[in-house]
Amino acid sequence: MAKEAIQRGFEYLVLSDHSKSAFYANGLREERIREQHLQVDALNKQFAPFKIFKSIESDILNDGELDYSPDVLASFDLVISSIHSNLKMNEEKAMSRLLSAIENPYTTILGHMTGRLLLTREGYPVDHKRIIDACVSHHVAIELNAHPRRLDIDWRWIGYALDKGVLISINPDAHHTDGYQDIRYGVLVAQKAGLTSKQNLSSFTRKEFEDYLHKKKKAKGI
Ligand SMILES: [Zn+2]
Repeated sequence: MAKEAIQRGFEYLVLSDHSKSAFYANGLREERIREQHLQVDALNKQFAPFKIFKSIESDILNDGELDYSPDVLASFDLVISSIHSNLKMNEEKAMSRLLSAIENPYTTILGHMTGRLLLTREGYPVDHKRIIDACVSHHVAIELNAHPRRLDIDWRWIGYALDKGVLISINPDAHHTDGYQDIRYGVLVAQKAGLTSKQNLSSFTRKEFEDYLHKKKKAKGI
C-alpha cells in the first residue's frame, strides 16, 4: 500500500486496519497492533520522507464505547471511529452510539456517518446537525468515505459542516491498492458540495497533518 501511495505521488498514508470486533474482516487484536507498529516504524525509516501514520478503524460498540482500552488507543497517531455492527437501530440509539464515540477523546475522525450502502442499504437514521455540532465541540473531523457505494457523509450536509467549521476528510476506504482510485469519486462529490482543499483533512501536507494531530491531542488532553 505504501509503495503504491508513493507511486501515486502521495506524501503519506493513513493505515487504518479494521479493529478486533470486525472479526469477519480479520480485525487486529492487540498483539498484531504491536507487530504492525514495529513494521510501520521500520518502513518509515526505509521510505522517509514518506510516512505511514498509525491509525485504526475502531468499531463503535453497541454501547458507544470504542473496542480498545485507552492505552491501546493512545498508541495510534489517529483513530477513525465507525459503526459496523447492529446497524438496524432507530435514531435515538444511533445518536447515542455516535455521540458517545464523538465525545471519546481518542476519536480523530468519525467514519462513514450513516453506514449507508447506495442501492443496497439505507443507513441508520441520524440527526446530521447534532452530529456535526458535536464534532465541532469535540474537535472531530468527518469522513467523506469515497467508496462509490458509500459517499457518506452525504454531500448535501457538507455545506452545513463547513459553515460550522468542521473539517471533512475524503478517505478512500481502500482495502487493496486498487482502492486508491476511489478517491476520485470522493473528490467529485465533495466539489459538488463546495469543499475546498483547505477544508479537507486528507489534502493537508504531511507537516500540516502532523501539526493538526499534535494540536488536537493537546486540545483533548491525551
Ligand atoms: Zn468502515
